[in-house]
Amino acid sequence: MRHSPSEDDLLSALEQREFYLVYQPIFNPDSCIVGAEALLRWRSPQYGLLFPGDFIKRARPSKSILRISAWVMEAVCHQLGQWACDPVKRSWTMSVNIRSHQLYTEQAITFILETLQRYGADPRRLYLELSETEFLPGFNGFSPTHLHALHKQGIKLALDNFGMGYSFLNHLKKLPVSQIKIDQYFVKNLLSDGNEQKIVDIMSMLAGLLKLEVAAKGVETPEQFDYLKKAGFSLFQGYFFGHPALLKWHALDSMESAHISSSDIH
Ligand code: C2E
Ligand code: MG
Repeated sequence: MRHSPSEDDLLSALEQREFYLVYQPIFNPDSCIVGAEALLRWRSPQYGLLFPGDFIKRARPSKSILRISAWVMEAVCHQLGQWACDPVKRSWTMSVNIRSHQLYTEQAITFILETLQRYGADPRRLYLELSETEFLPGFNGFSPTHLHALHKQGIKLALDNFGMGYSFLNHLKKLPVSQIKIDQYFVKNLLSDGNEQKIVDIMSMLAGLLKLEVAAKGVETPEQFDYLKKAGFSLFQGYFFGHPALLKWHALDSMESAHISSSDIH
């Protein structure tokens, strides 16, 4: 898409139910699925299929982005509630990407907690992925207190794209971080660049020392998986294991949402 969609485009897409979620499985070192990450898509009659980088990732905070984010939260909590009724999937975690401005207000925090409760979803299974690249000194105006409030309820925080931002180690101290998810850039160059290997090893060691989970994304080959496993990574995601999954559409009250089914993720 050449131009950013307007506020009206986004609001109308939400109204027309043009957004949906795909889910990419997350695996443990034994190659067992332990969760999934929800990824947003927009099927626009005007622009075709759009990825988040086209319409949400770089957009400034706005009413439409907040409303889309609320829709995403609603859909993932609904899905997590469905998994809670399944003997296998009840232990799966759900990772959802959020922007820091979603955590500015106390109402936003209450919304997340109430939505989880409404769908019978276990807060301990929800991971909020905040991109490290979003953080500036001073946390761009949002209060870490809000994250601590969510943490108290069992919700986990993952620092996404770790290694690509300022990598302020004090984020790891000041925020209730449970997981670091290293950027796929490091995984991509892992087997061709000794320096990347050292960086990956150090990040894994750091996570180990701080007792954090360390996740790798963009794992595309068995060789990358082997290296990361030996380096001590605990979670893996990428095309080697599975692409973001196909959609299943179900009615969800007044809106529709994409839902995973047993045939989507094996
Ligand atoms: P992310 O959180 O880093 O998500 C991983 C991205 O890598 C996804 O792109 C996924 O489709 C892609 N990917 C997964 N496995 C592989 C692989 O093995 N190789 C390669 N090359 N790519 C892989 P996608 O879906 O286009 O999402 C891009 C970004 O948009 C996400 O990056 C996330 O930051 C953001 N995003 C996605 N959904 C949402 C959402 O619901 N809300 C917000 N605020 N941001 C979202
Ligand atoms: Mg992510």
